[in-house]
Amino acid sequence: MPDDPILGLNELFKTDERPEKVNLGVGCYLTEAGNLPLLDVVEEAETRLSEKKLPHGYMPMSGIPKFCEAVKHLVFGEASPAVVEGRITTIQTLGGTGALQLGAAFAHQYLGVAKAVVSDPTWGNHIAIFKGDGLTVSKYPYLNAAKDGVDFEAMIAALNEVEEGSLVLFHACCHNPTGVDLSHEEWRKVLEVVKARDLLPLLDMAYQGFGDGLEEDAFAMRLFAESGIRFMAATSCSKNFALYGERVGALHVVCGDKREAEVATSILKALVRAEYSNPPAHGANVVAEVLGDPELKKRWFKDVVEMHDRICEMRRALAEAGEAEGADLSFATKQKGMFSFTGLTPEEMDRLREEFAVYGVRNGRICVAGLNHRNVGYVAKAMATVLK
Ligand code: PLP
Repeated sequence: MPDDPILGLNELFKTDERPEKVNLGVGCYLTEAGNLPLLDVVEEAETRLSEKKLPHGYMPMSGIPKFCEAVKHLVFGEASPAVVEGRITTIQTLGGTGALQLGAAFAHQYLGVAKAVVSDPTWGNHIAIFKGDGLTVSKYPYLNAAKDGVDFEAMIAALNEVEEGSLVLFHACCHNPTGVDLSHEEWRKVLEVVKARDLLPLLDMAYQGFGDGLEEDAFAMRLFAESGIRFMAATSCSKNFALYGERVGALHVVCGDKREAEVATSILKALVRAEYSNPPAHGANVVAEVLGDPELKKRWFKDVVEMHDRICEMRRALAEAGEAEGADLSFATKQKGMFSFTGLTPEEMDRLREEFAVYGVRNGRICVAGLNHRNVGYVAKAMATVLK
C-alpha cells in the first residue's frame, strides 16, 4: 500500500533532525506548547470511571445508550422535532471514519445506493471508504478558481445533474481540506436541490465547535433535520474531546418516522455484528460521563471555546506575520476550522518541507492548530520566501 499522504508525512517529520521543524500536516489540535491536549474534563471523567472499577464487558451492538443520546442532543439539539419524535437512530461508531463507513455500507447494501458524490477537493479517506463499500465515486465542484471561496453556482449546477438517489457527502462545518464553508443561505439552496433530486445526504461533522462554535457549527445538521428529509450524519468526538485514539464517533440516520428509525437501528446492528460485533467502551463512557454531568459539560463547552479561540488567534497571527513579510496570507482569516488551504502548489509545499522543514500536505493543506506563537513567524517567513 502506498504511504498515506498525511500519515506518511508524520513518519518523515519524526526522522527530520532540523530543530526548527514544524508539523502542519497533522489532523490534530495541538496546544500553544505544541502538545496534544488531555482535556481536564476527560481526565476527571476517567478518574470517576476508574473509581467505579467497572468490569470490561461487551457493549451493546449499537453502542452505549447514554453516549448515543448525549451525542444526538449535541448534534441536533435536545428540542429538535426529529429528536423528540424519535426519528433519529444514533449508533456509536469507531470514530467519524467508522460512522462514514457504516453509513456507506447501510446505503449500499440496504438502500441499493450505487453512487456517491463528494466535494472536489475532499478528505481523501471519503473516497477510499465509499469505494471500499462498493460505491462508485465522483466529485462535485467546490472550491472557486481563486481558492478562497466556494464556487457555489458550479456546485449547484453539478448537484442538479447527480443521478437521483445518489449519496452526496457534505462537510457540515470546517471543510477539510479547504476551511471554506457554505453560508446559511447556501445551505438552504443545497437543501432544495437535495429534495428536488431525491438525493441521500451524508453530512460529515468531524470538527463541531472548531468553526463558529458548537451550536453554530450544527446549523446544516439542524436545518436538514427540521426539513423532514431522510439523511445520514457522521460525527466524531476525536477532535473536540481530544479522544483521537479511543475511536469515538456516531452515525445518525434521520428517518421519516419512529418506526422507520427502529428498522434502521436493527439493520445497522446487523451490519455492526458482522463487521466488529460491538464498539469499544472507554472513550464513549468518558464522553457520556462529561455530557451527562452539567458541571463537567459546562467546563467542556469552555474547553471547546478555548480550542476554537486559539485556532482563530493563530489564523490572525499567520496573516499578520505574512503581511510583515510582504506575503498575502489572508486566506488564513477567511477560512474556518483546523485546516487552511494555502493555495500553494505541490512543488511549493515540497520546498517548504525541504528548505524550511515546514511540513504540510502536498495539496496545499496546513493544520492551523499546529501553529503557535513560537513558530508562526518562521512559518510565515518560509511561505513568503516560497511564494516570491
Ligand atoms: N471526516 C473528516 C472530514 C475528517 O477530517 C476526519 C478526520 O480527520 C474524519 C471524518 C474522521 O475522524 P475520526 O475517525 O478520527 O473520528
